[in-house]
Amino acid sequence: MINNLPLATYFRPKTLAEFIGQEKIISDKSWLYQAIKNDRVPSLIFWGPPGSGKTTLAFIIAKETKAEFVELSATSSGVKDLKVVVERAKESRRLNIKTILFIDEIHRWNKAQQDGLLPHVENGTIILIGATTENPSFAVNGALLSRSKVIVLDAHTPDDLVAIINRAAKELKAKLNTESASLIAKFANGDARKALNILESAVETAEKITPALIKDIINKPNLLYDKSGEEHYNLISALHKSMRGGQADAAVYYLVRMIEAGEDPLYVARRLIRFASEDIGLANNSALMLATATYEACHKIGLPECGVNLAHCVAYLAKSPKSIVAYMGYNRVLAEVRESGNLPVPHHLRNAPTKLMKELGYGDGYKYTPLEDDSQQEYLPEKLKGRKFLY
Ligand code: ADP
Repeated sequence: MINNLPLATYFRPKTLAEFIGQEKIISDKSWLYQAIKNDRVPSLIFWGPPGSGKTTLAFIIAKETKAEFVELSATSSGVKDLKVVVERAKESRRLNIKTILFIDEIHRWNKAQQDGLLPHVENGTIILIGATTENPSFAVNGALLSRSKVIVLDAHTPDDLVAIINRAAKELKAKLNTESASLIAKFANGDARKALNILESAVETAEKITPALIKDIINKPNLLYDKSGEEHYNLISALHKSMRGGQADAAVYYLVRMIEAGEDPLYVARRLIRFASEDIGLANNSALMLATATYEACHKIGLPECGVNLAHCVAYLAKSPKSIVAYMGYNRVLAEVRESGNLPVPHHLRNAPTKLMKELGYGDGYKYTPLEDDSQQEYLPEKLKGRKFLY
């Protein structure tokens, strides 16, 4: 941390001259460079992997074009926040100041939320820069896409990453030799934030940065693990799929990776409860009981002890027989309910607590199964007679 900021934020370039690499989109002759220099930047969609410089470039464009820079994250904000931004942008506009609204992870907004941007983009109240790691053809609304230009950022090359970390190391007066720098670049895998995070951990851990130290840091991923980041989703997905595939060893491996990285054991336990019904369901009813008991155990004893409870449950779920009848049945019914709406409950199944209800025929003809033959009795609404959902 410098001035309470992570290294990556502190060293975020503020001018085009400081922006390293990505020559394809930002060289002197590029369309974007010209648009910035002529102060004619339209709404843009930045498509690129994490740490490729989307936020940084949006920030630089705002600086270079003397626009107000407002940032929203689509994961944590919605239409209400947009309203506030638009009101402010209208005021700035009266003073002849443009507003660049940067929306990170714009693909996480649904269609209605993305549509909410359209009028403000169209009437020029805001210049939108949306960032996404997903293919915009699928992740961004057609209407918004047709009003914006898509700019593709590549993952940083190893050379660019070395340049980025060397600059930070120089400012920090940290000694970083070529071998350590290229090792960081290799592990960062195109992600400048990751590279700077590794450098930050190294600087904080020891005076002298050596390849051994870098390797040590990489092997302790809790220093780098971001609980809302991509790796978190990769690991939980790998855990779920290993259990589904019956691979207990792999499943326990991913479990331990998550716990070692600082994951909340209750988060994992919740996933196990879901798995017990989604993937095991009627094939083994004890799975749900063990999973809920595991949640209780994690809640009561916490880490490190509850690691074993989790491993016990993960191995059991992986080895258990599987059935998706309940899961698929739920989905089929859900689709039907959304399609056919509130179909009337058959009269003979209705409760008739009052005289009026009895008069209306509620409960009429109901066959009480402990005493009567119900073989002809229909239970589903008339329109769905004989339908099967559970298979
Ligand atoms: P993204 O928005 O694509 O996830 P960021 O723009 O937030 O990535 O980049 C993360 C960090 O990496 C920045 O804070 C900055 O320090 C560094 N960085 C990214 N791209 C560059 C670049 N082209 N030149 C220098 N530093 C960069």
